[in-house]
Amino acid sequence: MHPHDQTIFALSSGRLPSAIAIVRLSGPHAGIALQMLAGKLPLPRMATRALLRDGNGEPIDDAVVLWFPGPASATGEDVAELHVHGSRAVVATMFSVLSTMPQMRPAEPGEFTRRAFENGKIDLTEAEGLDDLIHADTDRQRRQALRQLKGLLGDKARGWREQIIEATALIEAGIDFADEGDVPAELMASALSRIEQLLAEIETVLSAQGRAERLRDGLTVVIAGPPNAGKSTLMNQLARREVAIVSPHAGTTRDVIEIQLDLQGYPVTVIDTAGIRETDDPVEQEGVRRARDRAAQADLVLWLSEDNQPEAERRSEVPVWLVRNKIDLPRPQETATATVQGDAPVFAISARTGAGVAGLLEALIGFARDFFGSTENGLITRERQRALLNETVAALRRSVTAVDLGEELAAEELRIAALALGRLLGRVDVEDVLDVIFREFCIGK
Ligand code: GDP
Repeated sequence: MHPHDQTIFALSSGRLPSAIAIVRLSGPHAGIALQMLAGKLPLPRMATRALLRDGNGEPIDDAVVLWFPGPASATGEDVAELHVHGSRAVVATMFSVLSTMPQMRPAEPGEFTRRAFENGKIDLTEAEGLDDLIHADTDRQRRQALRQLKGLLGDKARGWREQIIEATALIEAGIDFADEGDVPAELMASALSRIEQLLAEIETVLSAQGRAERLRDGLTVVIAGPPNAGKSTLMNQLARREVAIVSPHAGTTRDVIEIQLDLQGYPVTVIDTAGIRETDDPVEQEGVRRARDRAAQADLVLWLSEDNQPEAERRSEVPVWLVRNKIDLPRPQETATATVQGDAPVFAISARTGAGVAGLLEALIGFARDFFGSTENGLITRERQRALLNETVAALRRSVTAVDLGEELAAEELRIAALALGRLLGRVDVEDVLDVIFREFCIGK
């Protein structure tokens, strides 16, 4: 499916025009291509200035080129980087010249990383970390992705897998050499104590955090409440604040439906249900559909009203905060304070003047902190990883109980545990996962 005899190329830097554009090549013909373009191969890993020319000797651009012969390269193959001027014309010419070379074709999304993975340069958890790092919007997401990229989970999983394989070997040695099929007690005891130690270790990792894997998607907070409560006004108030990092999916012609906040590194998406309404405009419909889907999965509801009448909406598991709006309107003893009613926090704000909104954001940060848990120590960044570690733990537990039923059964459960870790690392059984994971990557990565 991914023939490695083909050399791939892509624009690995950002949107054009830009000061510099980096065209990256990987594969067996990267060296020949670089030599043809630059006249000769530069010294490995040394930035070298070169006038790049096409097949007819016509100059294309004055560039800096880099040559990374495999296997000591990012992909494990021969890699060349062309740092050209970032104009559309230069890059288009580079692409058309490269396309005419034999065995050379544009890369698919994530194909460089996939080759790195297939050449054993990185394991699957590191590939996931790389993807997360590229897509990180907030500082916490960046740090979490970097830990993953550095192989923290991968290293642990490799160690666990080796220990499981050793324990299996102990048990199997016992099976092979024991008289009448009984594994010597000391071999069994040694294998069992290893397994129990492992179980404890993996369980610690599984429980050491809140929902760190949710940090990639962020928290979803929905603003709901009766018409005219001030939902859209609050959205606009939030969007005007510095914490709002983007305001995409305007979706509606009237208001913002969705904004992304960076609350001390926690990514938080706020959705305004007032924007969720019937419309004939197909573009708007799509925005509304997406907002509705996301609102259905809210982690927190801010119930906005002019009084304290939230009960109508309090049926779900999702926590609801009562937010009384329009405290700027004259009413006796109204101040911007947070209190608690029943078990729900109550906030008093003015979406129009902004009074009390800072306090609400402060509380949201606290909620996010509790929700995500101590992501600083978190090793798990994806549901996929958590599921496989849970599988590993379940199989290890079964192996402990299976010991009494027979050593072969225990060994079989251990093999299942090792297999789950192998899948975590991308060592076995992964073709289906690979396509899903690498499809998410950008082109040129
Ligand atoms: P929505 O239907 O819940 O989105 O409500 P809107 O945001 O459209 O607000 C309804 C009306 O209430 C508008 O006229 C707003 O200007 C007004 N409004 C919203 N928030 C406040 C506020 O804090 N104070 C005052 N005085 N008026 C507000």
